[in-house]
Amino acid sequence: MSKKIRFNFKSLLIIVVLILIVFRTPFKHQNLPYLILKSLYVVYFESKVFDNPTYQSDTGIFNDVNLVNNNNNKLYVVIIGESTTRKNMSLYGYGRKTNPLLSKQNGLRVFKNVISPHAGTTASLTKALSLDNYENSSKEKGSIIQLLNAANFETYWISNQQPVGFAETDITKLVYSCNNKFYLNTEDTEELNLYDNVIFDKIDYVINNNSDRNKVLFIHLKGTHFYYENKYPDSFNTFKDKPKTQIAINESEYKFINEYDNAVTYNDFIVNTVIDKIKRKRSESFVLYFSDHGEEVYHTIKFAGHNDDVGTLPMFEIPFILWESKDYKLKNNIKIELNRPYMTDDLFHSIADLCGIDNKYVDLERSIFSKSFKNRKRVILNNKDYDSLLKIENTKN
Ligand SMILES: [Zn+2]
Repeated sequence: MSKKIRFNFKSLLIIVVLILIVFRTPFKHQNLPYLILKSLYVVYFESKVFDNPTYQSDTGIFNDVNLVNNNNNKLYVVIIGESTTRKNMSLYGYGRKTNPLLSKQNGLRVFKNVISPHAGTTASLTKALSLDNYENSSKEKGSIIQLLNAANFETYWISNQQPVGFAETDITKLVYSCNNKFYLNTEDTEELNLYDNVIFDKIDYVINNNSDRNKVLFIHLKGTHFYYENKYPDSFNTFKDKPKTQIAINESEYKFINEYDNAVTYNDFIVNTVIDKIKRKRSESFVLYFSDHGEEVYHTIKFAGHNDDVGTLPMFEIPFILWESKDYKLKNNIKIELNRPYMTDDLFHSIADLCGIDNKYVDLERSIFSKSFKNRKRVILNNKDYDSLLKIENTKN
């Protein structure tokens, strides 16, 4: 018995030492056990942070919330994408036509220089949707949903992601105060082939119900997450030839790129369809689309996926796109500068600004849509300046 225990302890020790050794080498990108252990730690840590009961109440710390205009025809939409790097979008200059529909959408504002604070869902979105940001893990906790509730918006969360899971549970806790939550996917999507078009019926239902309150819809997509081939129906299986790449790749690797590009094209269809639905309502509306983080798909290294430990720039370089209705433009006065450098850990302030909310917690210097916007250093990967990393990357090409 004791011999068996000694053996198990020794085996465990050998495994841990091997993991640590591999982590010290360039092979850490392929070190799955290390990445799993690290992810478990991050999920545990984040779940402790977001156990704060503040997120459970409807309006949290927010009171004295005012709206810039008192129109009662507001229908606002925030679409949260998943694992989509702008590097594979033709709207951002990618060689393949992966945005055939959005590129025909009139008046779309395509922001060119927005990054996510992390390369993982939980770490990114818990910052994007709350007062937390990179510089200060805010002492006073509050979510954008609670602020919108306090401004008397009817809030909706429509998700094609599972409510409970490795990267999902903390987001569910964070948006707990949402008035209406629809989790359309409670099974393993990989087996169900539940594509993102599952959201359409629910959106129709929500935008056509007779509530005369102002509404904000958050839509959380499956987007272009690995495994890419399971994120789009057969009719979107269009890219089959060998793509152009900066690094040499083999046949199975370029198959991944083709599948990713098919998923990006399907995502184009999803986002464009949501915009068309909102457009038809002729309300005071905007649709904001961004991705939680990006994805490396053989752009800079031989790797497909996203992870802060691998941490390549395409994992942070995200699409950030705004559509506004005619009525919205008439009644709101936001400032559009498409080249502003922005990181979405401050998204709380941008969404509040877009929704015309005036409150002491809303800092317009942190809103990409404000004339008061201030440029700040964008720190990623613990302590690195994104813009310096970008300069180094650009000199390589
Ligand atoms: Zn994600």
